[in-house]
Amino acid sequence: MREIIEPPLLERRGVRAFFTTRKIGVDRERILASSGLGRVDIYQPVQEHTDRVIVLRHDNSRRVADAVITRRRNVLVGVSVADCVPVILFDSERHICGVVHAGWRGTAAGILRRTIGAMRDEMYSRPSDIIIAIGPSIRWCCYSVGEDVLRAVMGATGEGEYYERRDGKICLDLPSANRAQAVDMGINEDNIWMSTECTYCYPERFFSYRYARGPTGRQGGFVGMFD
Ligand SMILES: [Zn+2]
Repeated sequence: MREIIEPPLLERRGVRAFFTTRKIGVDRERILASSGLGRVDIYQPVQEHTDRVIVLRHDNSRRVADAVITRRRNVLVGVSVADCVPVILFDSERHICGVVHAGWRGTAAGILRRTIGAMRDEMYSRPSDIIIAIGPSIRWCCYSVGEDVLRAVMGATGEGEYYERRDGKICLDLPSANRAQAVDMGINEDNIWMSTECTYCYPERFFSYRYARGPTGRQGGFVGMFD
């Protein structure tokens, strides 16, 4: 099995987009070697489950945010995850790319909505030009939450097919909730790719915070535009 996952919708000229597995993780050298990118800069924000989106311009200092968008070329932007949802965005017309880290808090804060909104309002993206890839994360097969978490996620997402009540448990699917937020923001459903893999179901392939029952490594989602 391949150690980097390249969403088919984003296999196009001028852009590289991929999710890593645990063998690659977020290790710079392994990412560069497995992607064949050579010596490029990698920018990752300091993630704190916020709703903050930053625009990466020329300042490489690490700032607190859970989403990064950029027009800059020849830099990979990325997020680290171990059950949370990594999302890659790419505007094929205006050449803007971005990444989002969405756990339940970020999803409840509408971080993907805010990222699409920032691309539209600050960088003149049209949502109909944006392609989205939702990477491997914990899925509803393995993620049950309390009423409070569901209510928080629903507050940002609305009703939809992203949760199920089963045997008194609430099974929540954060990737589907994020997809619903994206569609509501005007993203074309045909422009959304979603991984079917669950990080908790495949602990030999992915880091899973819940499977490990505590601190563990991270895999990531990365995107960049290259000459
Ligand atoms: Zn699972």
